[in-house]
Amino acid sequence: MPSTALALINRPSAAAAEHKPGGYAFKLVDPAGHHLSVLDLGVTRGDGIFETISVGFGTPQALEPHLRRFSRSAASLGLPEPDLAVWRTAILAVLAELDPAPEAWVKTVMTRGIEGDGRPTGWAYATHSGDFTAARTEGIRVVTLDRGYRHDVERTSPWLLAGAKTLSYAVNRSVLREAARRNADDVIFVSSDGYVLEGPTSTVLFRRGNTLITPGTGLGILEGTTQGSLFELAAQRGMRTGFELLSPDQLAAADAIWLVSSVRHAAPIRELDGAARRVDVELTAAMNDHLATRVS
Ligand code: PLP
Repeated sequence: MPSTALALINRPSAAAAEHKPGGYAFKLVDPAGHHLSVLDLGVTRGDGIFETISVGFGTPQALEPHLRRFSRSAASLGLPEPDLAVWRTAILAVLAELDPAPEAWVKTVMTRGIEGDGRPTGWAYATHSGDFTAARTEGIRVVTLDRGYRHDVERTSPWLLAGAKTLSYAVNRSVLREAARRNADDVIFVSSDGYVLEGPTSTVLFRRGNTLITPGTGLGILEGTTQGSLFELAAQRGMRTGFELLSPDQLAAADAIWLVSSVRHAAPIRELDGAARRVDVELTAAMNDHLATRVS
């Protein structure tokens, strides 16, 4: 069995009337083959959407929240509504192709398709995960960087697509190079009016006493599926949960901070803007156990 697998989703017409559930399907293909046109707008313009879903012992985790977010991103970009029954089946089919492994991930991508063709391109690709032990146990060094948008950008300027998971991630990669220049591993974006937002591929989570808190939605940031799973864990542990708009100084005053995401899971922050921080070892371990063993 291979360590990667790929399914191509048949390209439906852009005409909404033709997007009947079950009206199109997918096929499994050789992941080493050539499947994408050089004219695909996903490649030439970054015009498309994606999701990256953790897979634990063969089971996709938080699958339904990921698929819901995929649909929301499609709607933001004016892409055809994805037929989730087809995507769900394609995801399970590529996972059935993979060698069994404790941790893997599957990525779903839908682009606006080949220029002039009018039909989206879609695929689901799965592979084994890297080793994130150091980030999960020792923690990460993080710097705050200005994102250049106000915290209310999603409402004032929806055409900027803040809060949609688009393929245009060059900025989300560029900030990691800036982090490296500043001797850090990752980034927390701050709005131009001074509010804590999210990481380039993660959600900010912090503990104050017995409460687990995240900045929340409507700030031009993604609604994190991992954060959703960790709020369930918090409830099981008798912790309170909440949403809070806050400044970097208020964040620095928290008892513990994490960047949480699919695949890497909970990475405790051990240094923020050059200042060392205490890692909540026990809660971090409980979080990562919970995330690794999710069965839905
Ligand atoms: N915010 C951004 C910008 C992301 O790209 C991601 C995931 O890649 C997240 C937050 C975390 O989302 P999730 O927990 O669903 O992986």
